[in-house]
Amino acid sequence: MTGTVADRLDVVRARLAAAGAEPGSIQVLAVTKGFGPDVVRAAGAHGLVDVGENYAQEMLAKVDALADLSPAPRWHAIGRLQRNKVRQIAPHVHLWQSVDRLPLGEEIARRAPGARVLVQVDATDEPGKGGCPLAELDRLVGSLIDLGLDVDGLMTVGPTDPEVDPRPAFDRVRAARDRLGLRTLSMGMSRDLEAAVACGTTMVRLGTALFGPRRVSPPGAK
Ligand SMILES: *Cc1c(COP(=O)(O)O)cnc(C)c1O
Repeated sequence: MTGTVADRLDVVRARLAAAGAEPGSIQVLAVTKGFGPDVVRAAGAHGLVDVGENYAQEMLAKVDALADLSPAPRWHAIGRLQRNKVRQIAPHVHLWQSVDRLPLGEEIARRAPGARVLVQVDATDEPGKGGCPLAELDRLVGSLIDLGLDVDGLMTVGPTDPEVDPRPAFDRVRAARDRLGLRTLSMGMSRDLEAAVACGTTMVRLGTALFGPRRVSPPGAK
């Protein structure tokens, strides 16, 4: 790894500030998929206790390996989630970020009643990325609330093609968040955090910007 997490975090903070964010106003989620438990320790040592994992098995392995870590990491489930994985990770998840369909919400409500969730929105119409279409969003949010889940906000993944301006997609998600009267907006990754800040994000999800290139390609990763 070139540079330390401290150096990289300085760069991230400078990028956030240059994009117009007030210092400390935007939550930084450390995305640790493809790295070992050591990067979760390094993140924690720099005050980043919110940690995002895409895959249930990988989260569980790190939960085990880090049982001694204090303060304990707050695990966020950020990947496409199969219903049959919910039970195993439910005791550990602080925020379910990728709820995009009712059956998944039903399983979360069953295994973790009242859990805090974000609804993942598909704002780019790219196949295979997951997310609830904007046209179905209000109905899904209503149904999740009816299940007793604490719907805190919306999450989205910007366009895969770095040549495509992510701002129109981010603007659509922000407008939906405002209309629904929700709080959290989880949008912006290492390559598009500036656009996300410009569009009013409250949480950026950063892997490579904090830890460098991923060491292993997780299953299903591009
Ligand atoms: C991998 C991933 C990230 C972090 O991506 P980087 O480009 O490494 O910052 C953020 N959000 C989701 C949903 C991811 O899968």
